[in-house]
This record gives sequence, C-alpha cells and structure tokens, in this order.
Amino acid sequence: MIHLISKKVLLFAAVCLMLSSCGQKQAVPEPTPSATESNTTVPSAGTSTTPPDSESGPNQESQPQPENSTDPAKSAEQNKDDEQQNAQEPPANLYHINKAYNVVPNEEGTEKKVVLLTFDDGPKEQEMIDGLIDTLDKHKAKAIFFVNGYRVKSNPDLLQLIHDRGQIIGNHSWDHIDLKKETETSARKQVEDVQSIVEETIGEKPRFFRPPFGSGNDKLHQIVEENDMIYMTWSNGSLDWDSKNKNKPDAVIQNVMDQLHAGSNILMHELPWTVEALDELLTKLESKGYSFVDPDTISEKPEDTE
Ligand SMILES: [Zn+2]
Repeated sequence: MIHLISKKVLLFAAVCLMLSSCGQKQAVPEPTPSATESNTTVPSAGTSTTPPDSESGPNQESQPQPENSTDPAKSAEQNKDDEQQNAQEPPANLYHINKAYNVVPNEEGTEKKVVLLTFDDGPKEQEMIDGLIDTLDKHKAKAIFFVNGYRVKSNPDLLQLIHDRGQIIGNHSWDHIDLKKETETSARKQVEDVQSIVEETIGEKPRFFRPPFGSGNDKLHQIVEENDMIYMTWSNGSLDWDSKNKNKPDAVIQNVMDQLHAGSNILMHELPWTVEALDELLTKLESKGYSFVDPDTISEKPEDTE
C-alpha cells in the first residue's frame, strides 16, 4: 500500500511539475531578466547611493529633486515658494539691546514683555546641549549660546550641533579672560579668533558679543563694533555659576524670577543644574505672560549710528 501511494504521489508530483513548468515558462523568463537587471542595477545603485545618504543624513536639498522631476509645473511653483521663503528668511528687526542691556522693542506696538535667554561658556558636552535645546524646542524658544574659542577648538562638532538645531551662536572671547586687562592687540585677537573659528565651523560669524565677567572698556566696544557685533552683558543673572547654587535648580529659577522684568537679558550657563532648571523656568516665565525673543530679531539700535 505504501508503495502504491508513493508511486501515485510521485506520478502526481511529476504531472504537477510538468504543468507548472509549462505554466511558468512564459512567466519565468520575465522575472529572470528583470532580476538580472536589478542585479546589475541594485549593487551599483546601492553602492553609489547608500553611503552618501548615510553620510549626508537628512539631505533636504536632494529630496525634492525626484518630486520636481515628475511634475515640472509643480516644481516651478515650489521653486517660487522656496525663493519667497528664502527672501523672507532674514527676520524683521524688532528689538535692540539698550544701555542697561535689556531687550527693547524698536517700535511701539511690539511686545515688550519678553526675555532673552542666553547660555555662556560652552560648548562643553553634547548631553547638556541636547538637554537645553530639547527644552528650548518644547517651549518654541531660541537662545544665544555664547561660546569660548578654546572650547570650540576642542568641540567643533558641538558648535555645529547648536547651530544645526537652530540656536544662535554668540562670541564670548577665546580664553574667557578679563579683556579689560588686555592690550588692544590681545583683546582684538581674543574677539576675532572666535569670529574666525565659528565661521570656519558653521559658515557664519556671530552677531552678538558678551565679554567674560561682563568686563569691558571703550577699546573693546570699538573692536566689537568693527566686527559688526552687538555688545551686551546681561540684566538678569541666574547666578547658576555661583558655587552656592551648585546642584540647586530651584535656586537658579528663583534668582531669575526675583529679577524678572520686561526685556530681561537672562544670563545662564551650560551647567547640569541649569539644564535641570530650564523647563520649569520657561514654564514659569510663560505663566507670567513673558515670551522669548528670537535673537535673530535683535538689531543695532535703530537711531544709534555712533
Ligand atoms: Zn562666561
């Protein structure tokens, strides 16, 4: 019985094979050439496209191209839109920094109840930078990161990270020294070497300068002006740098809230307890009706040409 069944099975299988091979004869040749085509194209496409994609990551410029090529009319419209967006890119000059280093509207009618957020003395660590910027993003806020040249030299990738995440880079001198005690030549080098390394790293120079310790003189103001930067110290110190506030995010928050006023130019630093404090601080500021100035909207004082 087993033999009979197995013979029948074999016969049946043989017939099936013949039928299926006949049926596939027309279908098989098609997949085969296409398979060989894909074999010839896939590796070349794979080797040529995959590594650049993985290196360049989110290459926004290359992505619209395939879409545009399928619909020329749309691509023209999109290009027009892109041009208009690019044309609108330079933000309006809404605010300036006054003599008390507050942020003040250029014209009546612009919101006065604003604060400027700043973080000095970096870039130090990716974890702290990401922590700060995650919170800034959550509150749709932009800040100025006043960097030191010697830290940028050690961590150019971190400067790039701050820039790539849409935050603003400021110049805080190369060595974080008291520039008032330096010769004009030395002070100039402290300022201009930072302009150079930032431009080499992210492709643009800082527009804002803050002297270490808030310490400057007429010569420094002149050097900063010659480098087309806006000079500022601050008008609201979080005291996060002070050892008595170390590991005390609540103290950092309280210090800012105690000094809070319209146009507060808030001095903070890239420090772990400031990273920890930021979300609650920004929430408190918002609950008091304050919004966050986009540093890109800060210009020179309109009538001040000296
Ligand atoms: Zn500093």
